[in-house]
Formats: sequence, structure tokens, C-alpha cells
Amino acid sequence: MAKSLLPPHKLSPASKAMVKKVIDFVRKNDNFLVSGHVRSDGDALGSQLAFHHLLKKLGKKSQVVCDQGALPDYRFLPGSDKVGAGPEDLAKKYSAVFTFDSGSWERLERISAALPRKGLTVVNVDHHASNERFGDLNWVDPSFSACGEMVWELVKAAGVKPDRNIATCVYTTIVTDTGRFSFSNTTTETHLNAAELLAFGVKPGEIHNALYRQRTKEQLAFLAEVLGRIKFSEDGQVGWIVISKELEQKTGTTPGDTQEYIDHVKSIKGVRVAVLLKETDEPGKVKVSWRTNAGIDGIALASKYKGGGHPRASGATFRGTLEEAERVIVDETIQFVKGIPA
Ligand code: AMP
Repeated sequence: MAKSLLPPHKLSPASKAMVKKVIDFVRKNDNFLVSGHVRSDGDALGSQLAFHHLLKKLGKKSQVVCDQGALPDYRFLPGSDKVGAGPEDLAKKYSAVFTFDSGSWERLERISAALPRKGLTVVNVDHHASNERFGDLNWVDPSFSACGEMVWELVKAAGVKPDRNIATCVYTTIVTDTGRFSFSNTTTETHLNAAELLAFGVKPGEIHNALYRQRTKEQLAFLAEVLGRIKFSEDGQVGWIVISKELEQKTGTTPGDTQEYIDHVKSIKGVRVAVLLKETDEPGKVKVSWRTNAGIDGIALASKYKGGGHPRASGATFRGTLEEAERVIVDETIQFVKGIPA
């Protein structure tokens, strides 16, 4: 038989050791809370649900809860109908808490605020370089393109037979966090994992349709309105968009996942940093996102506001009005970019 042309998987010795530690820990405990960052995106929720399905196969009890629950865009994920949305859904007792894709304990927001951190064993599984290592067990490896790939390592190491539910959840984490295999975090490993997941029954077209082809006419009109309002710095190196509650009222819709919006700004020739400023439901809190070119550290921009993420994609919460956020954040970003030669 011809030798396979595929390279072997690469897992660092540190991650290999952590996979073993995490699996040992799972085997010794029984009842888990499985959480992820607030407004869990495809990577956070997909990771949580894939892990939940793995625990079920291992005969363990688990409850998936994240602040705001399963957002509409991800309700096609198997198990998403049982995801709790806030502290009111927390059961009384857990032997441990797993967090996925969350750079800090506080980013679980109302979930972590409702849990006594002391006396709880927390296992932190994440791929953000900015992770604060807040767990009792921390498996943090920024070389993974998606946190879901870390769950895939756990599945493979646990000795269970992966099924289509697990594979669908993990594949979704990869598609969403790599921008459909287009961002700079897409690696050989990403494609090897995706290929394996297809072997376990993933239907890429179905997942793609569920994620990207379910828009309402109103949502498309909202996108058109936002794209018509993109602003640029004088030199065109910074582009930004502002999404206000007023715009939502005017169009009678909510934007849903805004990742695509900022990607449009970043797709403009000459734009080295794209910024998105979005008014939240909480007065005085503005969500900020950055997308940057190589060499411009998005984490540095976000960390001033206790945010974080990845070098090319980061976020934070700004305290103040939307107008203040636009003035301050845009100005800081323009100054930051000016200091870095193109
Ligand atoms: P977003 O702009 O929300 O798509 O987020 C881009 C990246 O930054 C993701 O990896 C997020 O997990 C991370 N991120 C976003 N907001 C925050 C925050 N407030 N604190 C820490 N990380 C964040």
C-alpha cells in the first residue's frame, strides 16, 4: 500500500501531559458544570457541547451553562436545547467546573459571579494567549486554532468512539474560529482535524448552511446599513463601525453575530486594523472588537480595558457611552498603528 502523504499530528509534550492530567481528573470525578465565556460563540459553545457529549459516553453527569445560553446562531448544535442561560439554571452541586475558550474567570460573567470560586475545582481549557491561568488545572495552548480542537484531543485520548454529535460540535468550533479556514490561525493541524471529523459523519455543507445561510431579510438590511457607515482614519489604516441600540430600533432587528461585520472592514485594502464598537444591553458598557494585521498586537490594544483574545483578533468591554468609546478607542488605535511601520 502507498505510504500516506499526510503528515502526523503534532502535539507539544506539555499539551500531551495536560491531556492525560485532564482525562485522569475526569475519571476521578462525577458531576461537572461545563461553561464557556459569556455569549458563547461557535468555538466556546461547540467546545462545551462536544465535552458534554464526551462526558456522557464516559458515564459522567454534566450540565452546560453559559451566560446568555445558546445564542440563536448555534441552536443547530446537538445538545444546545438543554443549555442553561444564567445563574438561575445552575444546579446545586458539582464536583468540578470546566471552562472552555474563556481567558479569565470573570469572563463567565453572571455564571462565575454566582459561583464560589473558593472550594470549587476549576479546570481551564483554552487557546487564548492572554489566558490568566485562573484554574486549579490549566491547559492553555495558543497553537490550537480552536479550543474545540483541544476537546477533540480529549475525545481521542479518552478511548471512546467519537460520534457525529461530537464531530459536528468540534467541526463547528474550527469553522467559526478560523473564519471558514481563512484566518492566519489555520494550520496543517486544523485541516488534519477537519478531515478526521468528516470521517465521523460531519456534513460540512449542512453546518455551513446552518451557520451562514439562515439570515433574515432584516438582518441583511442591517448589514447593508452598517456597511454604509464604515469610517476611516485620514490615512485609511484604521477602519471602524459603530453599532448602536438606536440602529437596532430603527431597523427593527438585532445584528446577531457581528464577527462578519468587522471582517468586512478588515477586508478593505489598506486597513491594518478594523474596530467594531457595539452598544450592549447594559447601559454604560460597550463591546469593542479589534482585528489586526500581522505585527500589530490586538491583545496589547485590548488589555488596557482588561480584555484579551488573540494577537490578530481581540476584544474588551469599554465602560462609558458609545460616543466616548468611539472617541477614545479609535484615537488610541490610530496612535498605536502609527507607531508600527507597515
Ligand atoms: P470578538 O471580537 O468578540 O469576536 O473576540 C475576539 C477574540 O477576543 C475572541 O477570542 C474572544 O474570546 C476575545 N475577547 C473578546 N472580548 C473579550 C474580553 N472582554 N475579554 C477577554 N477576551 C475577549
